[in-house]
Amino acid sequence: MKCENCSDIFFPPRAICPKCRRKSIGRIKPYRLSGKGRVYSYTTVHEPMPDFTLMRPYIMAIVEMEEGVRVTAQIVDCKPEDVKIGMKVEAIFRRMGAEGKSGLIRYGYKFRPSA
Ligand SMILES: [Zn+2]
Repeated sequence: MKCENCSDIFFPPRAICPKCRRKSIGRIKPYRLSGKGRVYSYTTVHEPMPDFTLMRPYIMAIVEMEEGVRVTAQIVDCKPEDVKIGMKVEAIFRRMGAEGKSGLIRYGYKFRPSA
């Protein structure tokens, strides 16, 4: 998301700019992130949440995007021992799991190593 008042780029989406707050009302526009970033920090999770039982251990990382925003997401297509701070990654959309009985499928960002 991008604030047209102060040009700040932020994520996840919210209605008010974290920088200029009230002045930004009505001036928040969707902004397409490049999807490219680097691993800022990461942790290997051995005790998965119920949704993740088929993938353990899994890697949770804070990724710093090229635009400067940091997002928390899972790293996939990579072994825990191969993840490094500063490693280049790219965002992908992955199915995160089904929402209870409604069958609503949730999607979310994940990252995988990029060349
Ligand atoms: Zn702003």
